[in-house]
Amino acid sequence: MSNPAYPGINSKRLWQRHLDMAKLGATAGGGVHRLALTQLDIEAHKLLSEWASPHGFNVSLDPIGNMFIRREGSDPSLPPIASGSHTDTQPNGGRFDGITGVLTAFEAMETIHEAGIETRHPLETIVWNNEEGPRFLPSCMGSAAYAGAEPLKAMLASEDGDGITMGSCVDALKNALPHAGSRELGAPLSAFIEVHIEQGTELEASGNTIGVVTGMQGYRRFAVAVTGEDAHSGTTPRARRKDAFVAATDMARALREKLKDEEDVLRFTIGRFEVLPGGITVVPGRVNFTIDIRHPDADVLLELGDQVEPICKREAGPCEVAVNNLITQDPLEFPAGMKQRITAAAQRRGYSSQPIFCCAGHDARHISKLCPAGMIFIPCWKGISHNEAERAEPEDIAAASQIIADMLIDLANET
Ligand SMILES: [Zn+2]
Repeated sequence: MSNPAYPGINSKRLWQRHLDMAKLGATAGGGVHRLALTQLDIEAHKLLSEWASPHGFNVSLDPIGNMFIRREGSDPSLPPIASGSHTDTQPNGGRFDGITGVLTAFEAMETIHEAGIETRHPLETIVWNNEEGPRFLPSCMGSAAYAGAEPLKAMLASEDGDGITMGSCVDALKNALPHAGSRELGAPLSAFIEVHIEQGTELEASGNTIGVVTGMQGYRRFAVAVTGEDAHSGTTPRARRKDAFVAATDMARALREKLKDEEDVLRFTIGRFEVLPGGITVVPGRVNFTIDIRHPDADVLLELGDQVEPICKREAGPCEVAVNNLITQDPLEFPAGMKQRITAAAQRRGYSSQPIFCCAGHDARHISKLCPAGMIFIPCWKGISHNEAERAEPEDIAAASQIIADMLIDLANET
């Protein structure tokens, strides 16, 4: 398709930018370690703003540290058509999770700009702050705060392991980008599309290039605090022990037994398990652990999640247990119109596509509450993600960016 109304993106530049970004936090194993709003992540934001500057794109930051790179449209009254994702990574994460969604969006916007195409709506590339969550909880903080799902004050007060607050990191980001304007939380968007590596193997198995994401599974997360009593490991007989580790592992085993299904659709994970005080000769008096349960069916999710507390209480033995339901997110379906647009755009360019259900969490979840949203997946080598070996192919990344460019042009002139 060579149609001047739909210019081709610059795939070489797009790949080079992946390589440039991968230097910020490069690990010996070929991955990236760039936690949210560390100096390295702030450098990533600065690099984007340097790329934006020659085009005269405006950069702005909102109070939770989301970054917006904007190309103005011809009708200033219209909200932007946006695309983007996140620049932060997991500890020793990969080179594509998050950044691919940002760079494909930016490349699309830049292509449209260089082709001199005027759009009615403004276009935006968005970097949502703290999507991953290992440094600050909750994950998807920026998009959640933008969509009003989490209160700003509590999010700014969130502390990392060293007692540094998100608020102070957002200030550091603002200082690093002195020319950035300010943006209101929740300012309207007309549409949002997010490109992401699949983090699964469906596309690799089918050989298709584009996954048209149909919806996302829901999840419930819990924090469990088990309290027993610290005691001498040499002198305390079993009968007198209130061993929080024993109670917590009994809970974990019972939960694992209950939270599994024949079809292997349900996901149950204990991702954090902390034994305190942590002395080799001390019977531990406290254990804190987390539970993450995911399922595509809202009723199943509700019912299974409701069993967590009774199971923990039943298995507590001589210890006390407190179960806190941190968050419940229902499954969601993306609007049919957005899915059709992605499918049609892929078809016009000759990229094979398929519908695909999303089993991970992404910023598009929260933004879908504000405006019509959609997601595009591209193949992810062996489904490996949150890992230094994470890999996506340059031509698949280019295909996704091309679809974004074509869709931005249509969306920004039609609606
Ligand atoms: Zn991601």
